[in-house]
Amino acid sequence: TTFESMGLPAQLLKRLADLGLETPTPIQEKAIPEALSGRDVMGLAQTGTGKTAAFGLPLVTAMLAEPGKPAPKTVRGLVLAPTRELVNQIAATLKGLTDGTPIKVNIVVGGASINAQINRLARGTDLLVATPGRLIDLLDRRALDLSKARFLVLDEADQMLDMGFIHALRRITPHLSKDRQSMLFSATMPKQMEELSAGYLTNPVKVQV
Ligand code: AMP
Repeated sequence: TTFESMGLPAQLLKRLADLGLETPTPIQEKAIPEALSGRDVMGLAQTGTGKTAAFGLPLVTAMLAEPGKPAPKTVRGLVLAPTRELVNQIAATLKGLTDGTPIKVNIVVGGASINAQINRLARGTDLLVATPGRLIDLLDRRALDLSKARFLVLDEADQMLDMGFIHALRRITPHLSKDRQSMLFSATMPKQMEELSAGYLTNPVKVQV
């Protein structure tokens, strides 16, 4: 399998070439075609396997194909991750993939000025990468409209459970569009993950490496 044969748009194939990513990793080979077909995906994969691009490429492909652009401040895709470091890492990868496209990637994390984040959000964000706690703060302040968010990724979901983010997830997801595609990635698959999957994914296809 090649990135070309997966049917990714030319814009993204160019970015992949520029970034020196030539051959899909196993998780990318398995997850990308399923996600491109519109299915919800539950992926079992460790960090370092290329899972950020595994969810990032189909996410960006779908966002590039969406007609028109809603108003600024209306996020179209949301990626949740448990830690600041991970959010920064994911955002850096997504920025690399979307460089030169109209898609604006933004982050919100705890431990940084919330007002600065509100100002940055107000300037327009298509794809938001966030830690759950800070996202709740922003929702409580009505600084963020997630009602147009049609794509959701829960990354390192097992770590989010361990860190007690389950209640935050329960509060966040009702704000998103009901009509959405969701992907969940986890390094381990504890019993609780089945419940999480049942709660947030619809008829998911399971992929693992
Ligand atoms: P991740 O598992 O998403 O944290 O990615 C781990 C590392 O693999 C990152 O440095 C990526 O740039 C790199 N990577 C992701 N996909 C590919 C690929 N298809 N070919 C080579 N390297 C990749």
